[in-house]
Amino acid sequence: MSNSNQTSQNLARTTNRPVPRISIIGAGIAGIALACRLAGNNIPFSIYEAQSQNSVGHNYAITLKRNAWKPLIRALGLPESHQNFRAAVAVDRCVQGNGQIYRDSSPKSAVFQAVDKDVRQWLIQYLVERGVQIHWCHKLTNIKEATSGNGAELSFENDVRAEADFIVDAGGLRSPAFDCNNPAAPKT
Ligand SMILES: Cc1cc2nc3c(=O)[nH]c(=O)nc-3n(C[C@H](O)[C@H](O)[C@H](O)COP(=O)(O)OP(=O)(O)OC[C@H]3O[C@@H](n4cnc5c(N)ncnc54)[C@H](O)[C@@H]3O)c2cc1C
Repeated sequence: MSNSNQTSQNLARTTNRPVPRISIIGAGIAGIALACRLAGNNIPFSIYEAQSQNSVGHNYAITLKRNAWKPLIRALGLPESHQNFRAAVAVDRCVQGNGQIYRDSSPKSAVFQAVDKDVRQWLIQYLVERGVQIHWCHKLTNIKEATSGNGAELSFENDVRAEADFIVDAGGLRSPAFDCNNPAAPKT
């Protein structure tokens, strides 16, 4: 987060404990949704994404169930945004649709069709409005114990290095946990 140092200091002052450094790997829907929750609770973190901002996400439709997206929006403190959310991400939004593209869909239907890329963009906008900076073009290539002895050192393809106490692997099916030289990675 761009203001993470200040937030960390504030938290440390309140709790008298060092604030753990959280790194999220991957700005897919999972990584960004977690980032939104942390940002909404003023918990500092860093989020790294292998792709550039322009290329992230897919144009295919995903089926969103009400019991998944409604609680997320509520948790983000945006209950009034249900209609805005659907209007922004529905596959048929260009014709003022709300994603109920099947004949049996009712206004209270439990599912609707959304564009993967647009769901990500909607969540990214939430982060941008809270001053969160996503580290685009940061592909994690290695995790090892930090030389300081505290936490882990992350290495990225662009030669950037960072330290973290908690690493959340939200890298999707091609999760970096499988690729990195990570002693905690599952053995295949
Ligand atoms: C055609 C299709 C249709 C689908 N339909 C549905 C559906 O109807 N409903 C549904 O719920 N799901 C559907 N899915 C699945 C859905 O897309 C995935 O469940 C969802 O995208 C998973 O989100 P994620 O954030 O876990 O992973 P991803 O979306 O894969 O995001 C992972 C991110 O991590 C980044 N990353 C990976 N490795 C690294 C690294 N080393 N360093 C930094 N960043 C890294 C990637 O670039 C990516 O942006 C569909 C998938 C496909 C392909």
